[in-house]
Amino acid sequence: MLAPRIVFPAVMALCLTTVWLLLQNGVHEGIAVFAVLIPGALTIAFLERLMPYRQDWNQSDGDTKTDIIHLVIAQISIPRLMKPVWLASLATATTWAGQTYGPNLWPHHWNIVAQLFLMLVIAEFGRYWFHRAAHNITFLWRFHAVHHSPNRLYWMNAGRFHPIEKVYLLIPEVVPFVILGTNAEALAMYFVFNGIHGLFQHSNIHVRLGWLNYIFSMTELHRWHHSKWIEDSNNNYGNNLIIWDIIFGTFYWPKGKEVESIGVFNPDYPKDYLGQLAAPFQGDIDKTSADGICHHQEKSV
Ligand SMILES: [Zn+2]
Repeated sequence: MLAPRIVFPAVMALCLTTVWLLLQNGVHEGIAVFAVLIPGALTIAFLERLMPYRQDWNQSDGDTKTDIIHLVIAQISIPRLMKPVWLASLATATTWAGQTYGPNLWPHHWNIVAQLFLMLVIAEFGRYWFHRAAHNITFLWRFHAVHHSPNRLYWMNAGRFHPIEKVYLLIPEVVPFVILGTNAEALAMYFVFNGIHGLFQHSNIHVRLGWLNYIFSMTELHRWHHSKWIEDSNNNYGNNLIIWDIIFGTFYWPKGKEVESIGVFNPDYPKDYLGQLAAPFQGDIDKTSADGICHHQEKSV
């Protein structure tokens, strides 16, 4: 079957080419990103119906309304609200970097694809360690558990983050590029790549990437990261690329096996948005690890 092999590279190439053409024709970066991400998301939702990985994951688990609220708040509102903060820090950081290193460190003369790849490698290093910390430090896990709480994987899980964690996760995605003086075109390409990859990564599309699984942190790997079992899930932390997992020893791809069950062990984990906002602040630490709000439970237990 050819479709599972080419669906991700084909959609990604189409989206990156489109945003690049829009930028070349003078469309504002913010508009160009949304003009590609919205039809891209709808295409991915349609592909879940056309070529699902699991039929039962296409059925709503009462989570759709909550995920729409998460999508609007974590993926649209917070990045926009944070923009003035980033712009203020941009001015400070650019002055500091200029005094320390010279005018600008970013290789603006590189091909745009090479610039995008450089951005991915840099951002993924920070994201990898932030994500790994979120699984291994109880305080951070309390917030990250919101993202791991659904019992199925589908495209809208990409947007399910506690707002406090979303702000925290934006740091490695923005700070290095503010300091390096990255240009707006490369940033727009990065946010399209990041958005389309995240939607595919959590989607219920039947994808078979082959050797590309050693480059991208795509669905076949990321499903294991959402497993209920700690032996599976404390792996594959990569957001877009899997290279830092390979380097730091957390790459996990058991060939010939499929993930058993997704989510957290606590059957009472809230499904509504306000309940999920409050969840990190409820219960003491012992309770968190004992009754399953934390999914850190071992198969042998
Ligand atoms: Zn995680």
